[in-house]
Amino acid sequence: MPPSVVASRLQPFGTTIFAEMSALAAELGAINLGQGFPDSDGPREVLDVAIESINGGLNQYPPGMGMQVLREAIAQHQQRFYGVSYNCDTEVLVTAGATEAIAGALLGLLEPGDEVIVFEPMYDSYQACIAMAGAVSVPILLEPPMYRPNMDAFEAAITTRTKILLINSPHNPTGMLLTREEQEHIVRIAEQHNLIIVSDEVYEHLVFDGQRHVSIAEIPQARNRSIVISSGGKTFHTTGWKVGWAVGPAHLIAAVRSAKQFLTYVNAAPFQPAIARGLLMPDEYFTQLAKNLEDRRNQLCDVLSESGFQYFRPQATYFVTADIRSMQANGDGREFCQRLAHEAGVVAIPNVVFYTPQNAHSGRHLVRFAFCKQEKVIAQAAQRLRNWAQ
Ligand code: PMP
Ligand code: GLN
Repeated sequence: MPPSVVASRLQPFGTTIFAEMSALAAELGAINLGQGFPDSDGPREVLDVAIESINGGLNQYPPGMGMQVLREAIAQHQQRFYGVSYNCDTEVLVTAGATEAIAGALLGLLEPGDEVIVFEPMYDSYQACIAMAGAVSVPILLEPPMYRPNMDAFEAAITTRTKILLINSPHNPTGMLLTREEQEHIVRIAEQHNLIIVSDEVYEHLVFDGQRHVSIAEIPQARNRSIVISSGGKTFHTTGWKVGWAVGPAHLIAAVRSAKQFLTYVNAAPFQPAIARGLLMPDEYFTQLAKNLEDRRNQLCDVLSESGFQYFRPQATYFVTADIRSMQANGDGREFCQRLAHEAGVVAIPNVVFYTPQNAHSGRHLVRFAFCKQEKVIAQAAQRLRNWAQ
């Protein structure tokens, strides 16, 4: 093998686990409960708007901030669900998925050496983007079974180099939902130290057990120091469209845009009016979406306990984390996921990839299963897991 030519700041991150495990699922014909994407289509009317847009000639570069119809729909959505108003011309930016909004926020705001406080485990792009910006991740460990953030640890992690608090609720991979009180505490810390909050809220509508997601910007002191990020992927079962957004005060959105314009310039035009249509769906759509997913959460949690896993019941998201130590003597989640794929025909994600190298031991024995799949697919996975675990 020739020596790697990958830039040193990216070398620690290798290939994303999602690409690796989805390729393995395809190769083995295994049931993919790894990468978080639904296996059924979203609302017909949303899909139809995309088709009509292509047929209607909406096939050239849209405006840099995103199409007006979508920016207006995003602003209306934030007002409807969170009571927060945004100016759709200056405070709403359309991005290539939430992934680009995160990258744009970090690349657009961070100086080399700046520190970003972030929950650990964390969605895998955070560490890589912080590294691409030449900045430093300062992780706050969330520990099972409840995965609640320890606010003393949060406060103790602040230094003179801290610039951003990067939070994620509902949280991937744990399914933890921050309470309003916890978010208020985070906002007090941000105010006290004059920090920017970047809040990844992509699972905002996938919340269970009658609870409600609180957007950080609902807390009045947070509105003008927070970039709120979300995406149409999870809410409308269109993860492959990569339509996301960032909302916040104009000066912060301008910083995200300054990076975004040189990453993708603009995003796919025909999907923008389609996601706009989705965002204007009636409340029942959003309620039913969460209810259906809650049923799948219950189904998969039952399967895991019948198969002998200890698991941590998620309050939200697509994912449930399980401890594999009762099933794999050496407690190695990576090895376990390989065995599970080859022997049982079910793919999961080893949670260790969501941890920094220094805390890898905390996630080594944990694996994540996705339940955003059809009932019959989870039932089939259940059969395979039960047979395998016997
Ligand atoms: N943030 C979190 C926490 C995620 O789980 C994901 C994965 N979908 C993203 C961001 C990226 O979202 P998108 O596909 O819209 O880029
Ligand atoms: N967010 C999804 C997950 O955590 C997948 C995103 C991706 O493939 N990058 O599984």
